[in-house]
Amino acid sequence: MGEVQRAVTKGGAVPSSVAQSQERWRIPSTLLPEGEGQDVWIADGRFSLAPVDRAEALPGRFALPGLVDAHAHVALADWKPVETPRATAALRALGGQGVLLVRDVGAPHSVTLDIVHEAGLPRLIAAGRWLAPRGRFFESFHDPVQPDALISAALAEVARGARWIKVVADWATDELSYDPDSLRGLVEAVHRAGARVAAHAQWTGVRDVVAAGVDSIEHGCSLDAATVDVMAARGVAWTPTLTAFNRPLRADASPERRERQRVLLDNYQTLLAPAAARGVTILAGTDTAGTLVDEIRHLIAFGLTPVQALRAATTDARAFLGVTSIGAGAPADVVTFEEDPREDSAALTRPAAVVLGGMRIA
Ligand SMILES: [Zn+2]
Repeated sequence: MGEVQRAVTKGGAVPSSVAQSQERWRIPSTLLPEGEGQDVWIADGRFSLAPVDRAEALPGRFALPGLVDAHAHVALADWKPVETPRATAALRALGGQGVLLVRDVGAPHSVTLDIVHEAGLPRLIAAGRWLAPRGRFFESFHDPVQPDALISAALAEVARGARWIKVVADWATDELSYDPDSLRGLVEAVHRAGARVAAHAQWTGVRDVVAAGVDSIEHGCSLDAATVDVMAARGVAWTPTLTAFNRPLRADASPERRERQRVLLDNYQTLLAPAAARGVTILAGTDTAGTLVDEIRHLIAFGLTPVQALRAATTDARAFLGVTSIGAGAPADVVTFEEDPREDSAALTRPAAVVLGGMRIA
């Protein structure tokens, strides 16, 4: 046999042909988020519920499926666009924190669709570029998409490997960026092509955006209880990105700006726990603010239980994105901890071990 076969899967399709890890591990038997006891081993890159010979015990007392950042922008660094190599390095760095699955929901010039999967790189689900018309998103890293080009632009991203499409359904004002019929047409075309739609929706038009059939609401800070009910019924996920919206305002921010932030944060506080209780899938996502652990802390501070917040960053997010968690035959993505992160989320900042696809990377 010659060189190891290298997967050239772009755009985040989980590769089937990355060289299998030969490492053998036994993971800690307290499985989070729920904490049930179960003996689990790793061989050939996958979990096994049957004992594996010559397996070494991973350090740590608690095992959590690989963490998920469901709203990332790996091709932005300090609000500046970066090219594919730096975006790849940013993705790789997340692995060291135990973030082993990343949904990237917007990259300047679609550079995330050129990231090539390789061993040790967290799994990436990339949407490519943002879809927004001229004047409706940050000009410095946005190529405008006028309404009549919306569907063709989306399908071009799908053709390049995107499994999600990101539409900026609203932005600086309450007015929708594309009318409801255009949004509905976009969703239908993207679904027909086998991909899903994530919508940036921060104002009250979110109810029309949900009605258009999108699959996840990003931010959703002006959601209302009735729209949350529709999301629960239809299986629409919510990525609140609390850390981003709770960013301290600049010292010279106007009283109106401060009041607006207070109203949005109050609304999050009012709706988050009921949304989870009604069955809306909550996703932990960092956007451009803080770490995933910061977001998990925010989810708890705004009303989720620690177990719900951990599910938003692991099992629930993985299931929603079509990736398995800890179970027989599943790809072995796991993070271990000495201390119980349900008791103190600070434990999440100190992984004892990180294993991705059966290979220990930290
Ligand atoms: Zn974002």
